[in-house]
Parts: sequence; C-alpha cells; structure tokens
Amino acid sequence: MKRADFSIFLSLVLILGVCLLPPGAAAKDREGRYVVLIDPAHGGRDDGVRLSTGLFEKDVTLTIARLIEKDFEGSKKIRIRLSRMGDSDVPRSDRVREAIKSEADLFLSIHVNAGFDRESSGFEVYFQGFRTSASVKGDKSASQEIVKDMVRTKHLNESVRFAKILQAKMDKVFPRMDRGLREGPVLVLQGLNIPAVALEVGFATNAKDRKKLTDEGMQRFVSHALSESIKEFF
Ligand SMILES: [Zn+2]
Repeated sequence: MKRADFSIFLSLVLILGVCLLPPGAAAKDREGRYVVLIDPAHGGRDDGVRLSTGLFEKDVTLTIARLIEKDFEGSKKIRIRLSRMGDSDVPRSDRVREAIKSEADLFLSIHVNAGFDRESSGFEVYFQGFRTSASVKGDKSASQEIVKDMVRTKHLNESVRFAKILQAKMDKVFPRMDRGLREGPVLVLQGLNIPAVALEVGFATNAKDRKKLTDEGMQRFVSHALSESIKEFF
C-alpha cells in the first residue's frame, strides 16, 4: 500500500472503531468495573456558597459524594472514586488530572448554586458542549482531526445522555423549576476527554432549596437519585 493509501486505510479503521463503540461502554478497571469520578466541588479554603452558619457548599457536596460512594460499596460493576476525600484544597486541574489518571469512564461534579435574587430555585445540569470546548488544532492531518471530532461528538452525546438520565431522576426528588439542561462553560469539565456533567443541586440563596439541601434525609434522596442515574447510564 502506498503511504497515502495506508493513511486513508488507517483513518477508516479508526473511524469504524469509534462508530462501533456501544453507548456507555468504555475502559474498565482491572477488576472489570466502570470507574466514576465524583467531584465534590470546592473544599479547604474554598468554601463555595454559604448555606447557613458554619455550613457551606463544600460540606454539602462532600456529604452527597460520600453517600454515593457508600451506595456502590461492594459493587462488582461500578467503582466510585472521589476527587477529594475530606475538607481539602484541590485545584481544578488536579481534579481533571485525577479523572484522566484513574481512567474514569464518567465524571460528575456536584455544586450548590447561588442566585442574584432569592427567587431562583431548582437544580441545573450542565454539560460541556462543542461551543464551549476548545478545539485544539495542530498540524495534524485532516483525517486525524475527523477522528478527534468523532470522539468528541461521542463524548458529548454520552454527556447529554447521562445529563438527561440525571434530570429525570432528580425531578423526582428536587424540583427543576424549568431550569433543566444547559450547555455551559463549566470550568472543571474543560480538558476532560470523557463524558462529563456538572450538577447544581439547588440554590443556597433560596429559602426552600436551602432547607432541603441542609436536611440529611433530603441529601440522602439526592445522592440516591445520582446513584440510580449512574447505574442506568452503564
Ligand atoms: Zn460551586
């Protein structure tokens, strides 16, 4: 085969490979489990938004993340990893690096929202769309660019698929208030080459939301909805 022919052949093989990947299937860990990186946002000196005296976004997100981890204890199919274990400072870049290092199949960042007014309430689900993800163009061949675009499209589709599952499950425990699914510049999701979604559970600035988010039973309900979403995704 001539060099040019071979490069076309190689591209076709790569493109076919991407097309044949079934939805949800990705790299598994050594024990054959899917790896999910849960990112309890903020931590350490970075409190996030304040919910009440001495209770911050970083505390609520960690509680929910830990409950999810507990839900999957002993699971033979899914392994949960947390981007931070305690109240520690973890830069965004480290969270992304951890997702790459642990060969995570899915990334879920958990946040609590804050509004300029007291009326805003409900949860929001963000995914990193094409418009917001930076396309890195080098001196790569056109075929390599196509393959890269296809991989990106696949991850975007998978992110949206997970976001929709999450939305349906969250709807049952927390009102969406028509906020729903959003394509947005969620900084922590940038640089991730796997399906990734960020969830704003509710508004710390809204009295009703705040009451729910600080309630242990409600935190358990939310984490359970997230666990069920993860199960359905794989
Ligand atoms: Zn946040």
